[in-house]
Amino acid sequence: MKEQIAEMESYAAAHNVPIVEKETIAYIMKYIKKNNIQNILEIGSAIGYSAILMAGANAETKVTTIERDEVRYMECLKNIKKVGFDKRINVVYQDALEVNLPKVEYDLIFIDAAKAQNIKFFEKYKNFLAPNGVIITDNINFHGYTGHSEEIESKNLKSLVGKIEEYVEFLKNNDEFTTEFLNIGDGIGVSIRKDAK
Ligand code: SAH
Ligand code: MG
Repeated sequence: MKEQIAEMESYAAAHNVPIVEKETIAYIMKYIKKNNIQNILEIGSAIGYSAILMAGANAETKVTTIERDEVRYMECLKNIKKVGFDKRINVVYQDALEVNLPKVEYDLIFIDAAKAQNIKFFEKYKNFLAPNGVIITDNINFHGYTGHSEEIESKNLKSLVGKIEEYVEFLKNNDEFTTEFLNIGDGIGVSIRKDAK
């Protein structure tokens, strides 16, 4: 397992796949253990790195993960087979905003896909969250750019960071969810329902 994880890290570095930071996945794995999380939904599988580590955090945990890129999807399937998690991780090869998943409740939803779409992912998938579940969103700080979009020259980057800033405002002003913003890794948002126990 350790070896396969290291291999995925080298593959990600060589192919510019933005896998989750070590500190972030360590936090999520701890959260899974502490709260005995059973059922996880991930938006954005890439090569399966975070899905495999999340499934590995607790022997009973099942992960459904969505990926729209064919090359990454194939790589993800290969890696899941290698570590023997094909019974516990289900990879859905589709666009997360188009797919109709069966109405199952998830204890943890990890949003880690196209950052400009975060509000859409949140609004769609909050309906799949168990009453006391958590939605964790990665890359809230976006390499420190978030909060500084005005100073960015590149049009594309400025627009993307602007979208992340909108997402932060959306979470801060949300009637239904309370979000804690943590400065670990690239910054995460940890959102739970206001009436959660
Ligand atoms: N969670 C992974 C990294 C994901 S990188 C890890 O930490 O190991 C983000 C991935 O989301 C990319 O592979 C990209 O193809 C995918 N993605 C982006 N938008 C998507 C969408 N709308 N539906 C499905 N996948 C999407
Ligand atoms: Mg990420």
